[in-house]
Amino acid sequence: MPNAEKLFLWKACNDILPTKLNLFRKKVVEDLDCPICLHQVKIIEHALWECESVEYVWGLCSMKLQKRNINNQTFRDLFLSLLDEAEDEVSIEMAVVAWRLWKRRNEVTFQKEFTSPTTILKQANQKLQDIRLLHHKPPVTLEIQRGAAVYSEQWQTPPNDFYKINWDAAIDHKRCRVGIGTIIRN
Ligand SMILES: [Zn+2]
Repeated sequence: MPNAEKLFLWKACNDILPTKLNLFRKKVVEDLDCPICLHQVKIIEHALWECESVEYVWGLCSMKLQKRNINNQTFRDLFLSLLDEAEDEVSIEMAVVAWRLWKRRNEVTFQKEFTSPTTILKQANQKLQDIRLLHHKPPVTLEIQRGAAVYSEQWQTPPNDFYKINWDAAIDHKRCRVGIGTIIRN
């Protein structure tokens, strides 16, 4: 696992990341509003697991990550249970995606920029490919399991009598604008 992700995981598991809740406890900030979903942050895991903005990204990751449930678990418990059950590559995927989600949260706070879920996934996938190459493993196809379906770079025709909706969104905090694009095709 790369050092940046390793250090990030260590901080996340020991609850020493400067999350909104931790900053509030230290009286650095005066409110508990999540900078992305604007809901009140009640648990430390909000930034990496509970926030609506990250749920969608996890939902597009590998099956073992999609099925994770954080009910009554800390991020540390979640990661340790994953280490027990899953192969090494899934825990690396979790670390890479969580680190990118954490970076996005900081970009929203300090640069007023919000990276879309599809871009987050592409960046995380690129990093995972680089890690594989570094360890002399063959690159895998850029595909992410999503239920029985496969999310891929290549658009595929849906079955007869079905419509396929592709969408993406971007937020420009500086100009207070949101752009959403949707394509419905059969
Ligand atoms: Zn949130």
